[in-house]
Amino acid sequence: MGEERRGDVGHESKNPYYEGKKYKEPTYCTNCDLVYREGRWIEGSISSEEDPHEALCPACRRKRDRNPEGLVYLSGNYFQEHKKEILQLVKNDEEKAKQTRPLQRLMWADEESNSMELATTNEHLARRIGKSIARAHDGDLDIKSGHNERLVRVYWTRED
Ligand SMILES: [Zn+2]
Repeated sequence: MGEERRGDVGHESKNPYYEGKKYKEPTYCTNCDLVYREGRWIEGSISSEEDPHEALCPACRRKRDRNPEGLVYLSGNYFQEHKKEILQLVKNDEEKAKQTRPLQRLMWADEESNSMELATTNEHLARRIGKSIARAHDGDLDIKSGHNERLVRVYWTRED
């Protein structure tokens, strides 16, 4: 005993991004400085007496691997015309989520000629973004989750 088996601390899930995975306490994320305490990743600090473990939190791991749990596709003429407002809404949603769930983040926003793809570390954030855009701007919202993979695709479009 005493040696940590890497990546196999808990047995809850084979998914390496599993947010409920257990880490030794305290552990801090070497990328975003979140701290793992009392069973969850939170904003916090490490005191000088502590000898923390180091890891990548599940959100930073997804970012590194470019492996999102949610994808949001935005398209349509209306989207092009109201892009600024809509992206502001997305930002607000991310901020709100982060306050209570710091692992829920945007990973990227890729602009294509006529649409935009947003990737999130967490499926709930993708759903939340889709729903709040639909609430504020109508349009067509379609949410599809895969059977095997835990990946949610959220499509929102509005032409005029
Ligand atoms: Zn992190």
